[in-house]
Amino acid sequence: MNLYSTNNKDLKVSIREGILKSLPADKGLYMPENIPQLEKDFIESIENYSFQEIAFKVAQNFFSNSIDSDTLGTITEDAINFHAPLIKVENNISILELFHGPTLAFKDFGARFMARIMNHYWKNENKKLNILVATSGDTGGAVAAGFSGMENINVTILYPKGKVSNLQEAQLTKWGGNIIALEVEGNFDDCQSLVKEAFIDPEINKKLNLSSANSINIARLIPQTFYYFEAFKQNKSKSKTSFVVPSGNFGNLTAGILAKKMGLPIHKMIAATNANDVFSKYIKQGKYKPTKAISTLSNAMDIGNPSNFARIMDIYSSTWNDVKNNILSYSFNDQDTISQIIQTHKEHGYVLDPHTAVGYLAARNYLKSHEENLILLSTAHPVKFAKEMKPHISFTIPYPAKIEEELNLVGHKQEISSNYSDFKAYLLTHLT
Ligand SMILES: *Cc1c(COP(=O)(O)O)cnc(C)c1O
Repeated sequence: MNLYSTNNKDLKVSIREGILKSLPADKGLYMPENIPQLEKDFIESIENYSFQEIAFKVAQNFFSNSIDSDTLGTITEDAINFHAPLIKVENNISILELFHGPTLAFKDFGARFMARIMNHYWKNENKKLNILVATSGDTGGAVAAGFSGMENINVTILYPKGKVSNLQEAQLTKWGGNIIALEVEGNFDDCQSLVKEAFIDPEINKKLNLSSANSINIARLIPQTFYYFEAFKQNKSKSKTSFVVPSGNFGNLTAGILAKKMGLPIHKMIAATNANDVFSKYIKQGKYKPTKAISTLSNAMDIGNPSNFARIMDIYSSTWNDVKNNILSYSFNDQDTISQIIQTHKEHGYVLDPHTAVGYLAARNYLKSHEENLILLSTAHPVKFAKEMKPHISFTIPYPAKIEEELNLVGHKQEISSNYSDFKAYLLTHLT
């Protein structure tokens, strides 16, 4: 399988190169040269396959000429080692819980799979691969959990001091070993600037082999297609099925479009957004106007210029009509979100996190004018956002036992200033 850049279809690289590089030099995004078609037989008899077998079947279509089938089997088994149950909450709305991985958010699927693929591609090189990540909280934890213990790869995570939750900090700092957590005296933008500057610093690039575990790496998107198939398997309703996806950078939604193109009978994709509604506006008006993000309760979706928009344009040849025939989009504010969390708890005893609540609102809205079966992707466990939810709700959110333990671990971290010279000195003295 080769990949091309969305900015230039003639610029092709092998899937190995595309994954290790993350982004093409022309600032486009990598896309598979052709979207594989899965056999009809497989989709029709999907009940007979375990989640791990489904993951392997789908992955083979992308990796069979660069990773042997035994190795790929081990990679998918290790990466997809937790389940994604489909829970019926009310008539026509079922929730696919994607938060049973180590950091309680769907990003574990992408991060665990990408880590194992990169490790395989890199393990025989005689130099370390050094991954740098700036995080506002969630992505760093999933990446750390994904790469922990890999011999030939170091991960350096930069996070803003005092601006991540206790749980997030525990998930960044509990590892040690090949995972280095740097607590930066500054905000998320400072962390991101430090990483960006390191990537273009000739002295650093001469000594260290840098890479990124960026969310737009195609190796994070591919495993996100697996659970659309898994949801379909568990779906008992044989009526028309559409998916609702709480969206920020639209990676999760793009994975759903890929699953549909691979042959899964998905009727519509429904993008749920918070007050950051550039995509909803695009669907309504045909004009795409990126803006600055605004802060909301569902903060992992506070994105003013969704990075995967370029992939969606590529898939539908930038034709607005095709996009809106396949994707609907609705946007909701924080007040709506809180009301939905309270209502779903009261009516069904089910606790939604703020991101999933935005999705729930979109599902209800869609069902007002459609008679259909909806599957809503739940992107995070509510306990991850307990602090944000607490002022608005009167019930408590139980902590899973493994989280209680995590919070009591002593972390490994190093404080640094937001001056680039300090960060550079740290990298040059601590990494090889
Ligand atoms: C990252 C994230 C999202 C947004 O997913 P995209 O693929 O960027 O659209 C939604 N909810 C949660 C909890 C997330 O962490």
